Amino acid sequence: MKQKFEITILGSSSALPTSRRNTTAQVLNHAERFFLIDCGEGAQIQMRRFKLKMQRIDRIFISHLHGDHIFGLPGIINTFNLLGRYKELHIYAPKQLEDFLNAINTYIFTRLNYSITFHYLKPEGKDLIYENKLLKIFSFPVSHRIETWGFSFEEKQQPRKLIKEVIEELSVPIPCRIKLKNGEDYVDENGNVFLNEDLTTPPPKPRKYVFVTDTEYLPEIKNHFDGVIDLLYHEATFLEREIERAAETKHSTAQQAAQIATLLNAKKLLLGHFSTRYKDITPFMEEAKQAFNGEIELVEDGKTYSIV
Ligand SMILES: [Zn+2]
Ligand SMILES: [Zn+2]
Repeated sequence: MKQKFEITILGSSSALPTSRRNTTAQVLNHAERFFLIDCGEGAQIQMRRFKLKMQRIDRIFISHLHGDHIFGLPGIINTFNLLGRYKELHIYAPKQLEDFLNAINTYIFTRLNYSITFHYLKPEGKDLIYENKLLKIFSFPVSHRIETWGFSFEEKQQPRKLIKEVIEELSVPIPCRIKLKNGEDYVDENGNVFLNEDLTTPPPKPRKYVFVTDTEYLPEIKNHFDGVIDLLYHEATFLEREIERAAETKHSTAQQAAQIATLLNAKKLLLGHFSTRYKDITPFMEEAKQAFNGEIELVEDGKTYSIV
């Protein structure tokens, strides 16, 4: 059975929150490990509303230091403390975030019961910032008004699975089982060869989620990826008629986001970070469809998007 790999949107508005959309934050659940990506104001309240257990978050990834991506952090850090957290919290972010939180700490927090470890994002190239048995997480720079990063969550290739009944019937010794998992055939003590494909089944295909916000149209992102991206979240602050405004503010239009999705071989595209100037966002879908043939969704706060 495949592990869970799903993203719940906590906020999908751009700079200004509205009554229906908070500012950027998402919770990624991979195999019951929870990661917070960006932390716009009210992220902790959204987690309560959408019944996500915030204490299970041990790692937070921050794309850049604009308020709509970080103003929820002091609140969450304080709440963790009040809830008696003792587990270490890891924050992957631009270096200056530590100064920002320390400044707040000086005035507000008495003393945290848990420690925070900061991991500074590197300004160049695709950088492995975290890995566990199943997943690798990378940062890569994008192009916005200040230093900004995207994140990529990539499953590791898992070993082949043994077909238990056959393995037991043949009494395959343990060292040979390991070789089978790595794709080798099995040769028993009499020299009989058993083909790998008769004793194992292939592992699930590794899946990939890529998060890109905020950025101007940046086809160079392609340099960091080959193969297929199962799910791409890309900001779409503006429609095509505001393309100049997008360039000035270093944001993307829906159609530019769709062009990136095509370039990256994405199977599915999530669009968010909508400017509040648009009361009706359906044109985002129409414009994006002109540049991308895969599935597209305009995200909603509280909705969960799974990679199956
Ligand atoms: Zn933003
Ligand atoms: Zn920004």
